[in-house]
Amino acid sequence: MTQTDKKGRCHCGAVTWKALTDDVVTIHECNCSICQMVGFQHLIVPSVDFSLLSGKENLSLYTFNTGIAKHYFCTTCGVKSFYIPRSNPDGISLNLRCMDTDQFEKITYEPLDGQNWEENAGKLAHLSEKK
Ligand SMILES: [Zn+2]
Repeated sequence: MTQTDKKGRCHCGAVTWKALTDDVVTIHECNCSICQMVGFQHLIVPSVDFSLLSGKENLSLYTFNTGIAKHYFCTTCGVKSFYIPRSNPDGISLNLRCMDTDQFEKITYEPLDGQNWEENAGKLAHLSEKK
């Protein structure tokens, strides 16, 4: 499977990043308390494949519950373009909504039942393993 660098950004453009991802991807749409509210579309990659290009000083951190997930959002526009997910503390979850989908060859959308997190999060664990 081919992998290439892809770009993403927040709405105002202060936060920009790149990440090495597969060209054919499965995006997870989660219904947990926070994903449901923000409509986050998950593309999880190993953290070594992610580089923040700009906006480090523009990121604010939100945590709740276990505090394991690190929800970073832009302090100017409020958009969460990426974060560290509780399911993959060694990875980064990219928000497909903040990426130009033309960068991908094929995108498949799959629901993830995050309301029953304990039963389902394990399905995602392999996604942050370096290929
Ligand atoms: Zn922004």
